[in-house]
Amino acid sequence: MRGLHGVRAMNETIPIPIDMDALRREVEFINHELLELLGRRARLVSEIQTIKTREGIPTFLPEREHQMLVELVARNRGPFPDETIRRLFKEIFRASVELMESQSCRTLKISRASRAADLQIRVRGAVIGGSEPMLIAGPCSVESEQQMEAVARFLSANGVRFMRGGAFKPRSSPYSFQGLGREGLLLLEQAARRHNLVTVTEVMDTRTVELVSEHADVLQIGSRSMYNYDLLREVGRCRKPVLLKRGLSATVDELLWSAEYIVSEGNVNVILCERGIRTYETQTRNTLDISAVPLLRQKSFLPVIVDVSHAAGRKDILAPLGRAALAAGASGLMVEAHPCPHLARSDSEQQLDLQELAQFMAQCNLRPARDSAALMFQTDRPADPTTVRAIGG
Ligand code: PEP
Ligand code: MN
Repeated sequence: MRGLHGVRAMNETIPIPIDMDALRREVEFINHELLELLGRRARLVSEIQTIKTREGIPTFLPEREHQMLVELVARNRGPFPDETIRRLFKEIFRASVELMESQSCRTLKISRASRAADLQIRVRGAVIGGSEPMLIAGPCSVESEQQMEAVARFLSANGVRFMRGGAFKPRSSPYSFQGLGREGLLLLEQAARRHNLVTVTEVMDTRTVELVSEHADVLQIGSRSMYNYDLLREVGRCRKPVLLKRGLSATVDELLWSAEYIVSEGNVNVILCERGIRTYETQTRNTLDISAVPLLRQKSFLPVIVDVSHAAGRKDILAPLGRAALAAGASGLMVEAHPCPHLARSDSEQQLDLQELAQFMAQCNLRPARDSAALMFQTDRPADPTTVRAIGG
């Protein structure tokens, strides 16, 4: 039994335990021991996570956590009530899962920790992620041979190597133009081959991955498909580079996890694309999340580009957005351009005409090829002006 000692403290009437200091030292000693034990526990958890990552076992196993809590409560002899024991251990478990998750992030195949150097992707002699910023330009949808020829001629004359154009279109309404499908793929491919361009086009369905990869150079996974894990795995099994767009409301980490799905199947040639996220702002179609660019580059070695057109949904602020994206570290830009935007079958308000595209390139310091000359081109629409002048170098 510990004795009491009449220490004269602030309140003379309250007796202070004679060995309070000793008791406190004991409590502190136990604190240190607990800390030591928590550290030991965390190191074991970390070893378990290494095995889980290797074996593809999920980090959080609710049944196991439940079982451990049941056993701990059964062993509880007080004085803490069972509920307190449950609460304390749940907190320890939560901290362990957090530790395991951060560890598994560090060991992702796409993680900067697993490869320090930026990835450069080469397609038909063009580079994504190299020292020079690149541009992917072209219409929202492939519509006709004349349209694609006009775009392709303009791009090759102005030193742009990547041409986009959707053949399979993800549209909000099932009654809107859904793209020309296979015919669109062929028109895109033929125009690109005539002008030595690299094609970028969306694939929406696992059943068309083979078809699209036969005809296109870079497969685009659109925002609406970023969570389609079957599709991600399927493009991960083919040999074509994949341009992965950030989902409409996806976090940076979710985008990285989707990229990991592709890379985990063996295809490391993934380009991450920030294209704006949904916010409460109504002035733009989406809000361009510039911070995603340095964050993605910090977390992963994959090249990052920015689609300014689908971010803004309007033409008048594309150049400042493009400059901001490049200044933030983007390897390139995507922009929608059409010979006659007002006649486009999708996204007509946000597509630049070819003259505007030339201005955009100049404003973003994306230099046209030195030997390019002023170019005339034909449109396929009789109602339209038949020639438009575009800039040269
Ligand atoms: C597109 O690039 O054609 C497209 C539909 O963009 P997003 O998936 O970003 O909406
Ligand atoms: Mn579009």
